[in-house]
Amino acid sequence: MTSTEPSVFTKIVAREIPATIVAEDDRVIAFEDIAPKAPVHVLVVPKTPAYANVGELAAADPDLLAHVVQTAQRIADERAGGQFRLVFNTGEAAGQTVFHVHAHVLAGDLQEGTLA
Ligand code: ADP
Repeated sequence: MTSTEPSVFTKIVAREIPATIVAEDDRVIAFEDIAPKAPVHVLVVPKTPAYANVGELAAADPDLLAHVVQTAQRIADERAGGQFRLVFNTGEAAGQTVFHVHAHVLAGDLQEGTLA
């Protein structure tokens, strides 16, 4: 799915809207979710706007997908003893609202059914 309008996450990468950034390098940015659904709820987002969802990313750039997962692991190591849930909502019917691929890192005394 593509859009000509920059996504909210592209605007965060460009510092056009604020976010609480917890990790960043040349390929990914990670920041606190604005509406947290768990004690730790961080989004890990590839900086490129090229991929709408995790399937597109996996097909086109598996190294970048691995980097997203490694970044999620590092954040969970630092904040939740390495224990976490990783969620990629894919498609409107699955609850995806931002069509710029992002991993939800959920951690910290999760309740059953906390799926972002
Ligand atoms: P859902 O909204 O159902 O979780 P997504 O999987 O597309 O769908 O996730 C988008 C996530 O982005 C939501 O958890 C939402 O709270 C978060 N979000 C939206 N705008 C911002 C923002 N400006 N800063 C941080 N997080 C945001």
